[in-house]
Amino acid sequence: MFHPLHTFNYCPVCGAEAFAVRNEKAKQCAVCGFVYYLNPSASVACFIRNAGGELLLVRRAKEPARGTLDLPGGFADMHETAEEAVCREVKEETGLEINNCRYLFSLPNIYPYMGFDVHTLDLFFECKVDNFDGVKASDDAAGIVVLPPSELNPADFGLQSIQKAVRIYPSSLPDIPLSVCCTIGMAQLSAPGATGEI
Ligand SMILES: [Zn+2]
Repeated sequence: MFHPLHTFNYCPVCGAEAFAVRNEKAKQCAVCGFVYYLNPSASVACFIRNAGGELLLVRRAKEPARGTLDLPGGFADMHETAEEAVCREVKEETGLEINNCRYLFSLPNIYPYMGFDVHTLDLFFECKVDNFDGVKASDDAAGIVVLPPSELNPADFGLQSIQKAVRIYPSSLPDIPLSVCCTIGMAQLSAPGATGEI
């Protein structure tokens, strides 16, 4: 397995070629001492449901996994919260303005981009709207797909973490009204008795 910084051959501070592996996620310059740690980039994805329970999905316009299904979402920008990233990305890709969302769970992922493996931490959210009137694919989305959760097929989703999330989502949060569980996370959901079973 390659070091995650294997394509970074020169020190970004002094330009020396003596930019050597320090540990599994860092390189250090032997000339000026600069250490660079590679940490995962935060990204968000959102399960958006209408009043009838249907989900709003997008078809990916770009590589990786171009043409496959995806949840609306993307990378968080610097200085914004994950919730702000959800609202911005959903608006950019679907035109939909959302005013509620709650955190569900997270999954690590690797997003290959221009020959570099971007390690991400994908944060999954859920949001509810009255309807999908006026939605229109744009930006990273080539099309809009609306499906009931029962017709979700993980194999139709090209990104690995999204596939996993689609598998987890229907079984983890079936019918819990958004208004009463805004702070529920995976740990609580998987705790004994959390589903109401005794
Ligand atoms: Zn240096």
